[in-house]
Amino acid sequence: MRKLAAGNWKMNGTSADLAAVRAVAEAAPGGIDVLLALPATLLDRARDAGVALAGQDCHAAAKGAHTGDLAAAMLADAGATAVILGHSERRADHGETDDAIRAKAEAAVAAGLAPVICVGETLDQREGGRALDVVGAQLAGSVPDRAPGLVVAYEPVWAIGTGRVPTPDQIAEVHAFLAGRVPAGTRLLYGGSVKGSNAAEIFAVPHVHGALVGGASLKPGDFAPIMQALA
Ligand code: PEP
Repeated sequence: MRKLAAGNWKMNGTSADLAAVRAVAEAAPGGIDVLLALPATLLDRARDAGVALAGQDCHAAAKGAHTGDLAAAMLADAGATAVILGHSERRADHGETDDAIRAKAEAAVAAGLAPVICVGETLDQREGGRALDVVGAQLAGSVPDRAPGLVVAYEPVWAIGTGRVPTPDQIAEVHAFLAGRVPAGTRLLYGGSVKGSNAAEIFAVPHVHGALVGGASLKPGDFAPIMQALA
């Protein structure tokens, strides 16, 4: 399975940062896939930068009266080939449920986008021994029956932007669990405080096919060693 280094820029990036997109494209090693989830405002302007692009969310409807939202076909039209769905920040900030995420993923598939669906437990849920139950329920509830190009990202909420990373054994347990429940060919990414210094150890874990990277994807100099560790 081809490895995937995906960056999630979140609500960061203006036209001044297009040079960083081009620098990531130039630094990308051969033999792996690289995907940057840019803010929607930059997608069209980055479409010729030489790297695959993703949106960070889409609406479940194809079009209509949904002020401020974007349809999956609009993201595709702007140059995206994939879309992140169900990121924990959207689950928390916008109350997104598994049902809503599945509907968005169906819309993404209908528009030809590969859905990158995020699952992950909170610290309370992990400490309560419920990590597998939580990610299992999220997976069952949010992944559509048909999802060509599906990517699932395991992102423990307590590891996102915190510098805290699960142990390799903890990642291995969740990824093995997910691997038994996703369609064949689905890539499983780990996400949460991935850096150049911990990437190789994480990528050595079975059933880890790459990373979804937040903070360290913003600077090409930080993202390059993560891409290299995957190559
Ligand atoms: C993310 O938000 O998807 C993420 C993994 O963030 P960070 O790498 O900054 O922890």
